[in-house]
Amino acid sequence: MSFTLHGAGAGGGIAIGHAHLISSARLEVAHYTIPAEDLEIEVMRFSAAVDKVRAELEGLRRSVPADAPNELGAFLNLHLMMLDDATLSHVPRALIRSLGCNAEWALVQQMDYLVGQFEKIDDPYLRERKADVTQVVERLLKAMQEQPARAGAAPAREHQLIVVAHELSPADMMLFKQHQYAGFVTDLGGVTSHTAILARSLGIPAIVGVHSARQLVSEGEVVIVDGVHGVLIVDPDPLVLEEYQKRQRELESQRQKLKRIRSTPATTRDGTAVDLHANIELPQDIEQVRESGATGVGLFRSEFLFLNRDDLPSEDEQFEAYRHVAQAMRGMPVTIRTLDLGADKTVNGAARGGPNPAMGLRAIRLCLAEPQMFLTQLRAILRASHYGKIRLLIPMLAHAHEIEQALAMIAQAKQFLDEQKLPYDRGIEVGGMIEVPAAALALGVFVRKLDFLSIGTNDLIQYTLAIDRTDDSVSHLYNPLHPAVLHLVAHTIKTSARMQIPVAVCGEMAGDVALTRLLLGFGLRQFSMHPASLLAVKQQVLKSELGDLARLAGGILRADDPEKAKRLLDKLNA
Ligand code: PEP
Ligand code: MG
Repeated sequence: MSFTLHGAGAGGGIAIGHAHLISSARLEVAHYTIPAEDLEIEVMRFSAAVDKVRAELEGLRRSVPADAPNELGAFLNLHLMMLDDATLSHVPRALIRSLGCNAEWALVQQMDYLVGQFEKIDDPYLRERKADVTQVVERLLKAMQEQPARAGAAPAREHQLIVVAHELSPADMMLFKQHQYAGFVTDLGGVTSHTAILARSLGIPAIVGVHSARQLVSEGEVVIVDGVHGVLIVDPDPLVLEEYQKRQRELESQRQKLKRIRSTPATTRDGTAVDLHANIELPQDIEQVRESGATGVGLFRSEFLFLNRDDLPSEDEQFEAYRHVAQAMRGMPVTIRTLDLGADKTVNGAARGGPNPAMGLRAIRLCLAEPQMFLTQLRAILRASHYGKIRLLIPMLAHAHEIEQALAMIAQAKQFLDEQKLPYDRGIEVGGMIEVPAAALALGVFVRKLDFLSIGTNDLIQYTLAIDRTDDSVSHLYNPLHPAVLHLVAHTIKTSARMQIPVAVCGEMAGDVALTRLLLGFGLRQFSMHPASLLAVKQQVLKSELGDLARLAGGILRADDPEKAKRLLDKLNA
């Protein structure tokens, strides 16, 4: 029976495929058939992973300091015991042989069985041990990732599958970069959560905040994901299916047409040049940046290098990643944001949740509390600055003393490089993100102490309207046209222009074509967005005449309710 569910559209386009229900991408593995003659090699690959994880856990147990809490050693012992239990170390070998499948698939089948057994236990303490099974399995999967299965195995038909999950973390979403799913649907999450931003960055139709999709949709059912309107149609009627297939073809043809303006300079009809830069999460995103025709990277969310791993990336590893991006952009600006960990992006050993993580020890606050981690990153960025045009961007600043401390740490990192006689760009620019209302309201100190500003509208909206961006129960209150938000954005752009300090917008507002003219009218000349939105925004810029925009944008700013602002905005865009 056909039915429709609603959520928030998080990624453009329409996807049609078969539902694939998952719990967590971390444990989402491809299913391969292994040729009979290679099955014993696959079993050996699994055994090697067990040995590697055992060595890892034993190493960790040896390194537990004598004064560490007893629970730590006990927890490692438990994981070692589970690893060596026949249910986890022997049964998957039998499954590889009997199912003729890859080791990861066999292991996850057995994990699902074991978790099901734990869930039946009445005792709450024992029931929760299912989390330990999952953690041991995660370690094994990671060990196997380092040693991929033999070729000849064919991946499942991912490009026809729509992932349906209750919740996906940004770290889960990063793992999807290695897959080719057709679309995503999650029950939880807001439109500017990092999970939704990443779905957009994958250029894949997605809907978040659907509430009961995981419960109501069955594995394998045909579903339509309308990522523009946030509509999920399950088991569609043939006529509906045909209509969406037609729309899908139209969208694809529009996308192809947009490619024609890839190398056209982004100038308004009256000849004003506008910088259109790209946001990236990982060095490999640079390929997409180049295809989009972006003239720089306006936001490199460097913390994504820190996710999905147990350790922190070393200075050299970070240096290589930053250098790669700087060199690939061939002299165009690359704005590297220093670590914005905390809130929904957590890493083992570095992030601390606290009762309200979005308001807690996040971003620059965490970096100042963990100076070694911060200095390591600063040294890596500075070293890479020798190989291109790198700019440093500090997130979540609110206080003058935070700017001063961050600048002092940068000076310290430079001094270290001087002592080591390592080259770096001595004129490297340091900018700050304006994403806490306090920063937008007290701009003077930011303008005096920094070289450029970048408005992070996602957090600016979160903190101005007091809505957790990851919480779908309040995502209907997310509104970039709220007068308070527009005032802060317009004030920041205008004050920066007056004080002659470059300013960009790098939050999701910059990639929303409905807001391009409004931002131009406020005086914005630098936009940074995900590469997938760049050509559509460029088309808006090319069609815009600045002449009357400032006056019309001023009218929207004076509108005291978002409904009126929306009506005026429609007129502005007509
Ligand atoms: C923002 O807050 O608008 C921003 C660009 O940063 P992030 O989305 O990574 O928090
Ligand atoms: Mg932010």
